[in-house]
Amino acid sequence: MGFQTLTILGSTGSIGKSTLDVVARHPEKFKIFALTGNTQVDLLFEQCVLFKPTYALLVDPRAAQKLEQRLKQMGLKIDVLSGAKDLDLLASHGEVDTVMASIVGAAGLSSCLAAAKAGKRLLLANKEALVVGGHLFLSQVNSGNAKLLPIDSEHSAIFQSLPEDPSTWDQRIQKIILTASGGPFKARDPSTLHLVTPQEACRHPNWVMGQKISVDSATMMNKCLEVIEAHYLFGLDPKKIEVVIHPQSIVHSMVQYKDTSVVAQLGTPDMRVPIAYGLGWPDRIESGASQLDFQNTPPMTFEDFDSHQHRDRFPGLLLAWEVLNAQPGSTGVLNAANEIAVDAFLNQKIKFTQIHEVNRRTLDLFAPGPITSLDDLLILDSHARLVARSVVEDLSKL
Ligand code: NDP
Ligand code: MG
Repeated sequence: MGFQTLTILGSTGSIGKSTLDVVARHPEKFKIFALTGNTQVDLLFEQCVLFKPTYALLVDPRAAQKLEQRLKQMGLKIDVLSGAKDLDLLASHGEVDTVMASIVGAAGLSSCLAAAKAGKRLLLANKEALVVGGHLFLSQVNSGNAKLLPIDSEHSAIFQSLPEDPSTWDQRIQKIILTASGGPFKARDPSTLHLVTPQEACRHPNWVMGQKISVDSATMMNKCLEVIEAHYLFGLDPKKIEVVIHPQSIVHSMVQYKDTSVVAQLGTPDMRVPIAYGLGWPDRIESGASQLDFQNTPPMTFEDFDSHQHRDRFPGLLLAWEVLNAQPGSTGVLNAANEIAVDAFLNQKIKFTQIHEVNRRTLDLFAPGPITSLDDLLILDSHARLVARSVVEDLSKL
């Protein structure tokens, strides 16, 4: 593949920064068309100076204004946009080949669909967009003839371990095995989890990530979202998706074939590896990650999710199979509830263990209607958020 023009949605986040790190190693391969953030003026300014995109966007209008002034002072001719609507424009623009979708949460849904419809190479880190978008997301990818490539490390590992021809997957594969580190509370006494603080929850043992996914990793809701993500990405029956706890995060996930052979992808825990894979696919390009040092690698261990009280500690994971077997739209309800619950926990409105209560109760209280359009999804998302917020209010009064 020759020169690629890139839009990075969420360039000021953890995945966005790692993407720019990989891009900077290959100036002859990539050109940045657009960079976007929500509110972070200083960082987006620095990124604009370094990568000189055609467009920069901050969702927050006041932040966008500041950015525009600073770029003008520098004499840089970069068009500055603001507001969420123009994210779609930058994701679908005719000059763009590849879109890195690294916004956090359902806020990235519309721009993902715009990129899919426009037939882009869509590098998907924003798992919530696929969890909410589900079949509609996939149908836009198909109708737009887009190429959807997973960036989530587990899904990149599975994609790398699968045969090239998707029509053979169902017949050849017995199951896929998603690995999970178990996060910071894998060994913690479940009866003390209500005391967990936001700082403790955000301290992941192996990965440095944004706040929301860090909390999701601590509750294992991240793995729950990843089971749903795997179902949609690989078209597999939920029964064929398994989770195993692997605290060292070296085996990034595995595929078990009908003959019992297991194919896995291994590497150091560094998101630049799956990012470089997505950017370079089908070639392999340098990522900047360090090599696995087999002599000094800790022994690799694997634990069954059902053992060691993991079910008590991480009740959220099991919701994945529940919502996949429920009405379409339930995955979106769960995602909306979880986004509200994580935000309430980070703002110290609810306890760590109440995140699951918000998710559970919202699912019980809210039945999704039929979904045929992006508007249906956005309405479902906002209604589920209202229900989840009222559950948060009830819990915070206790
Ligand atoms: P961060 O919180 O670090 O970054 C989020 C990005 O989205 C920032 O650029 C932020 O802008 C922007 N953003 C936040 N809210 C909005 C909004 N309402 N509208 C538009 N843009 C917004 O998250 P991560 O990089 O950690 O995660 C991004 C996605 O990738 C998530 O879906 C996560 O699950 C997934 N992922 C992350 C991994 C990781 O290692 N971090 C691994 C695998 C998947 P600003 O900076 O201005 O706030
Ligand atoms: Mg992951």
